[in-house]
Amino acid sequence: MLSDLNWKRASVRSETQCSRCARELLAGQQSIQIDRARVCIKCWDEVRADPTKSAQEYKRELKIGTGSSPRRSSTGGRTGVRRPAARTEPNLSPYDASLLVGNVLDRATADTSVEVLPAGDFDFHEPGFDYIVVGRAGVTIVSSRAYSSAVQIEALVSWASTSIPANVIANGRNMRDLVDLAVEQRAALEALVEAANFKFEVPVAAALCFESVEGVDRTPVRDSLGVRIDTAENIAKFATRRGPVFEKEIAQVVDHLRGVAAAED
Ligand SMILES: [Zn+2]
Repeated sequence: MLSDLNWKRASVRSETQCSRCARELLAGQQSIQIDRARVCIKCWDEVRADPTKSAQEYKRELKIGTGSSPRRSSTGGRTGVRRPAARTEPNLSPYDASLLVGNVLDRATADTSVEVLPAGDFDFHEPGFDYIVVGRAGVTIVSSRAYSSAVQIEALVSWASTSIPANVIANGRNMRDLVDLAVEQRAALEALVEAANFKFEVPVAAALCFESVEGVDRTPVRDSLGVRIDTAENIAKFATRRGPVFEKEIAQVVDHLRGVAAAED
């Protein structure tokens, strides 16, 4: 665990080197001090991206305290043995998760001008990215892919970096790949919307639905790389919120997207 590591942020007192990448660290420069070693902010961001590592693993990756690396002996008791992360099996099949998220969206959009289109009609669609919601807020692609994983979001990015997304830990596994995929899906959808050259603004968003979301409840964290991470109910609210698109423009966007889907058939 990160908390087991004796680290602090400190400016360099006299010129030294990053123990991991050997980059020069000048006096006064911000760095991370671990034991008596220093690492640069970039290395620190890269290595601490996975918060499940043990203190030993951190040090090994940061090349701190080299020399004799402690070996794990099979008879040497329990110290240093990494506890396996608690893991639960998904309770829903992908099909059922998709249906469930679809039902939540249908309920939220009943009796409104908001439309829910099946994302599967589009060539860019990846499995588990099921629905495209078109409403006043614009266009949102909604994924049920990780629905049955309770998710814990860890913000490890607060002070040093804006380029590295928050970790999204579900069942002990970091799901940042899924966030990246959501970013790609959004970009593909954005390209389709832009091709229509609407005279009005149509924001495009991506959202990942989870059964439950715990952890640090802060907008920048829930909004990892601009991807909304929340429960299906909250995603439905998010996708159907008010926005710059007028009611009659929603129909134009829907027509355009249906036209694209039909042409790709
Ligand atoms: Zn470095």
